[in-house]
Amino acid sequence: SKNSKEDIIRLVEEEDVEFIRLQFTDIYGNLKNMAVTTSQLDKVLNNKCMFNGVAIEGFNRNEEFDFYLYPDLDTFVIFPWRPQQGKVARIICDVYCKDGTPFAGDPRYILKKVIKEANDLGYTFDVGPECEFFLYNTDEQGNPTTILDEKGGYFDVSPLDTGENVRREIVLTLEDMGFDVETSYHAGAPSQHEIDFKYADALKTADNITTLKMVVKTIAKRHGNHATFMPKPVRGIKGSGMHVNMSLSKDGKNIFEDKEDIYGLSTTAYEFMAGIMEHIKGITVITNPLINSYKRLVAGYDAPIEIGWSAINRTPLIRIPTASGTETRIELRSPDPTANPYLSLAVCLAAGLDGIKRNLTPPPSIENKNESDNILRLPKSLDEAIKEFEKDEYIKDVVGNHFAEQYINTKKAEWNDFCTQVTAWEMEHYLYRY
Ligand code: GLU
Ligand code: MG
Repeated sequence: SKNSKEDIIRLVEEEDVEFIRLQFTDIYGNLKNMAVTTSQLDKVLNNKCMFNGVAIEGFNRNEEFDFYLYPDLDTFVIFPWRPQQGKVARIICDVYCKDGTPFAGDPRYILKKVIKEANDLGYTFDVGPECEFFLYNTDEQGNPTTILDEKGGYFDVSPLDTGENVRREIVLTLEDMGFDVETSYHAGAPSQHEIDFKYADALKTADNITTLKMVVKTIAKRHGNHATFMPKPVRGIKGSGMHVNMSLSKDGKNIFEDKEDIYGLSTTAYEFMAGIMEHIKGITVITNPLINSYKRLVAGYDAPIEIGWSAINRTPLIRIPTASGTETRIELRSPDPTANPYLSLAVCLAAGLDGIKRNLTPPPSIENKNESDNILRLPKSLDEAIKEFEKDEYIKDVVGNHFAEQYINTKKAEWNDFCTQVTAWEMEHYLYRY
């Protein structure tokens, strides 16, 4: 790692840091943390900080709930919005079991495992995400509303865009925290926004997505707004996606590029893309984890439905952006920002590597399909996605038994609970007529 223990001790001293938040995510990617005071720094740096995971989703191991947090020193960063005397810093941690082995239910560990496999083949997995979110007003009690009080659309400017001040402060805060923010703008739906930062290796990007979500929500709240990454908060308008731009590099060179190819992609890139398409149904429960995720994956709102790719069309499952050199990439457009970033990147990488190992060829692009080619589509519901995951032995193996079992059990419970709800739609359509 770039930071040594001494670096952290010095930073804490120089910057007057008083609290350190030790952060990790549960199996859903919800950020969790425990604050320690800097009097505990020695313990922190020597992997001695312990917590009980009994109340954290997916955190138990053979009825054992004691875990240790091993800090990743390179993730040390000060929260710019907290008091500047007695500052608050965070460090993202890996979760370990008492016996010193990594905890199989730690999403960051699962991503690291797949990254290691890629590294052993000489590959670095570079990822750049595009997170969309809604900024809503709050009511007098401070509770979020979903009232669309603005009429802004894609790339609109103030006064149509009422989010410019919040976005500005989010971007400045992220830059303070070391992000290379590239673009920020009003997205396609009223009150919808997007902030994009520079691609990096998958682990750093997953950490960055987690941090971005925390910062967006925190800064929005300070402006009296509620930020949500919920995929489809309002029916009839666009939902929020998290497009994922992916490429592999080897010895610092982007190996998805081939200037001879009509779309500028190498055979490796096509094989990677074919691997994603091969496993897309199985990984959808991870990239689109909520019942609400499937309300976004419907026709008419720029979200993908069919399993296809294109360099021309803007809204397929996989898009080939016009780019060359280090920017050469494929863009997966199905994931939404409620997905656990660690797991999503882990299964995307694993699926792509499977394509390379098996030399898979993608089907023709959507423009070049024949009438007779059968069109496969993404799962239509959480229920279908769960079943597809259960059929994909390769992906199940990637995430491991512990994770697969815990995740799927809770997802089934979520689906079953939802199925027993009597919704407003049913009342409107049935109560009077029948
Ligand atoms: N909001 C869209 C989605 O749900 C994407 C919009 C775009 O492609 O610009 O994926
Ligand atoms: Mg995009």
